[in-house]
Amino acid sequence: MKNFNLESMRHLTEIENIFIELKKNRVSRKTQEQRQIEYRDSTEIELLTLRIKELENEVLRYKKHVKKMSRMEQESEVARIVSEKDAVIEGLKKELTEMNRTIVDLKDKGEKMRHEYNSKIEECRKDRSTLINNHMDEITMLQAAHDAAKNGLLGEIVVLKQERMAVDDEKKAMEQTIQELEIKVEEKKALQKMVSEFKHVENRYRSKILDLQNSIQVYVRLKPKKNAFDEITDCVKYTMSGNSLISECENRKNVFEFDRILLPDCGQENVYDEICSVVHGFLQGYNVCIFAYGQTGSGKTYTMLGDDNSLGLIPRTVNSVYDELTGKDFTLKLRITEIYNEKVRDLISNDNLTSNGLETTSVLVHSKEEIMDYIERSTKYRVTEATDCNSSSSRSHSIYSLQLKVKGKGETIESTLNFVDLAGSERIKESHVEGRRLKETQNINKSLLNLKIVFNSIINKDKHVPYRDSKLTYFLKGSLENKSKVLMLLNISIDEKDYNETLCSLRFGQVVSTVCTGKGAKQLVKEIE
Ligand code: ADP
Repeated sequence: MKNFNLESMRHLTEIENIFIELKKNRVSRKTQEQRQIEYRDSTEIELLTLRIKELENEVLRYKKHVKKMSRMEQESEVARIVSEKDAVIEGLKKELTEMNRTIVDLKDKGEKMRHEYNSKIEECRKDRSTLINNHMDEITMLQAAHDAAKNGLLGEIVVLKQERMAVDDEKKAMEQTIQELEIKVEEKKALQKMVSEFKHVENRYRSKILDLQNSIQVYVRLKPKKNAFDEITDCVKYTMSGNSLISECENRKNVFEFDRILLPDCGQENVYDEICSVVHGFLQGYNVCIFAYGQTGSGKTYTMLGDDNSLGLIPRTVNSVYDELTGKDFTLKLRITEIYNEKVRDLISNDNLTSNGLETTSVLVHSKEEIMDYIERSTKYRVTEATDCNSSSSRSHSIYSLQLKVKGKGETIESTLNFVDLAGSERIKESHVEGRRLKETQNINKSLLNLKIVFNSIINKDKHVPYRDSKLTYFLKGSLENKSKVLMLLNISIDEKDYNETLCSLRFGQVVSTVCTGKGAKQLVKEIE
């Protein structure tokens, strides 16, 4: 019995130890990190806890029951209970072993999961660092691009600042220039005022001079050498003081006096300045006739019309006429005539022959440009032909006539200005021409000779002046006899090879300069009311 009791107590203690072990297990299981495992086992553990509580209650019940039972009953009961409990304990041990195994399994699983989790975390870390590195690279690149753009912009800003400074400097310089210009404009205005005052005085004197002049003015223009360094010997010497010219060749020496000598360096503008007084006379109501005389190639057409680079007397006169007549009530008519082989040709309408042999078209013109258009067209109709003297020789006389009518207060001024570009004056012997060309040259020389005879007749105050003996003098009769102002421009070459022609021209000019045309008179017409 004593043994039985001891045995029972040992069993009870063992059961209690099992309970304690189970409790420990439960506690240790609870402390496991693996929440997943706890979750899974929690139901099972709860069931076991319930079961253990039941067993504890049962043990308590048995303990009470045992106290009540007799020793024998108690022992047999204890033995039965012990065997039952042994079976239960065995079951529980098995269960415990099973659970420990499950725990180990779960630990392994947890370890595996933790490993997987760690490797995933490691992977994520790697990905993250790769991503960070990529981003860092990108940021570095962007930073570099940003720095480059910033540097570029800073450079541009520096350039722009420099440009602005330059613009500011330019602006200042321009403002200064404008100020200077404004001062100059004021000065110019003052000068213009002075010039117009001087012009006024000059015009008064010019009118007086024109009134006093009653002989044909002869101006000599010396054509410059093509090349100033040409080795050719000059056949004409000119004195710088006075108006004398000395022609010299093979010990022959002649001295001539003229109204003006226009030296080779005298430009077109200077030539116009010299003749503008007669142009002014035309505006004042005088009939004016300006001849260009000389051998072919001596510069007659150049003096009269000029070329693209340098305007001649005619275009300069046209400009001046329109400038002077601005604001006035006037009409201007133009006539362009050619005398070729003693026949009069109309260069305005391009008629080969005029109806009555003298009359040519007179067109009303309204601007400088219109006049120059007519003149340009007319030069194409002119008869020119190559000769030995010059590759493009003028074979005819050209007459450019401007007829002016200015209406003033109570009176009308009418005047005519003739520019006569004479045909070349070369002699037949020099030009080596034959046939038709010979006839042309003979006609040219005949008309030039008649011009000379007409001038001589005027000098001699002959009763009969043979104007009708050539078409040229007949056409110009009105401009030569009616107290007109006549100016002859003698174009000469200073080249020694042209000595004979130059001498002839100078002699002709000398004769002409002694011709008196009578005191010029303004052509005044009483205005018809
Ligand atoms: P012309 O009419 O007497 O036959 P041009 O006027 O045709 O002679 O002149 C012949 C050449 O000489 C032209 O090429 C012309 O440009 C030139 N010439 C004439 N005179 C001068 C001058 N004073 N200055 C420059 N070139 C001139």
